[in-house]
Amino acid sequence: MADRIFNFNPGPAALPLQVLKEVQQEFINFKGSGMSISEISHRSALFEDVLNDAIVRFKRLLKLSDNFKILFLQGGASSQFFMVPMNLLPEGSSADYINTGSWAKKAIKEAEILKKTCNVIASSEDKNYSYIPKKFSVNPSAAYLHFTSNNTIEGTQWAQFPDGGGVPLVSDMSSDMLCRSFDASPFGLIYAGAQKNLGPAGVTVVIIREDMLERASKDVPTMLRYSTHADKNSLYNTPPCLAIYIVQLVLKWIEESIGGLDAMERRNREKADLLYGYLDSTDFYRPTAEKDSRSLMNVTFRLPDEDLEKKFVAEAGKVGLGGLKGHRSVGGCRASIYNALGLDGVQSLVDFMKTFAQKNG
Ligand SMILES: *Cc1c(COP(=O)(O)O)cnc(C)c1O
Repeated sequence: MADRIFNFNPGPAALPLQVLKEVQQEFINFKGSGMSISEISHRSALFEDVLNDAIVRFKRLLKLSDNFKILFLQGGASSQFFMVPMNLLPEGSSADYINTGSWAKKAIKEAEILKKTCNVIASSEDKNYSYIPKKFSVNPSAAYLHFTSNNTIEGTQWAQFPDGGGVPLVSDMSSDMLCRSFDASPFGLIYAGAQKNLGPAGVTVVIIREDMLERASKDVPTMLRYSTHADKNSLYNTPPCLAIYIVQLVLKWIEESIGGLDAMERRNREKADLLYGYLDSTDFYRPTAEKDSRSLMNVTFRLPDEDLEKKFVAEAGKVGLGGLKGHRSVGGCRASIYNALGLDGVQSLVDFMKTFAQKNG
């Protein structure tokens, strides 16, 4: 489509064109109902089919066993920062956290506000969060080990998830959910805001192991209890129907058009290899994350100075390469190359980067 750009936005981010077209086509009259998905009851069979299909596809993609529940919640991943300790960290116990960047720090802050005991067992703050810590020991009695699988702002990602040694893992996968396959069995809970890799803003996916549902004390408000939403299949109150429907179409796209998570991962590695390969071949651009901690999703880099960075982002925008500005807290440049962005987008970026370096180097 000639008037669409290559969208490197960090979130809300690019969605597959095929999905957007499907939404457009079905929007006015959803499945012959004479209404749009935003006008039908969340308790109608039509919507329940959408919801249940999304759940089935999620479970199939991640090869989840039957003791995991998929929930569709609101309040963003940011609300999970407090829902997790409220529900999973009973009085008298403690949880371990690993601090790998701004989002991890925010998760720790919420646990502290709740006056929960949380131990930060490792941090990469000493080097501007440019790496994933390798040495730490998990308290065997911890209620869970919380980590951020992909650090959207700093451009780092866990290549291999930490070993909890039997302590349930809890992970914020907002910016890399479904970018690769992984073994979910050591996890007690996984959460992800949809607007990076799964769909539009407005819905947060929570994958929770059934035994975790029992942990919340009686004083957790109804809407903030995972068990409320698990018992009612995310229909305790009105869910964000439109957002869930778009997530369902994205899952269908991964399964039917891409060919599943292994194929998705191959595609993502090819994209990341192309971009990091180029970054490593020049002195003009400087990737900021340590090699073994690099993210497949958010590629962060600097130019020789801030004026050139501004010029780079502006000129890229003019040729249809959008969203390359780094997060305001860290500066620099960032190319978010989520699932929906194809290899052609990365190739166009690399071509532009070469030309820009030649002219300005
Ligand atoms: C974007 C992001 C969040 C915040 O998500 P909201 O849905 O805006 O609350 C949390 N964690 C990570 C890793 C993110 O990338």
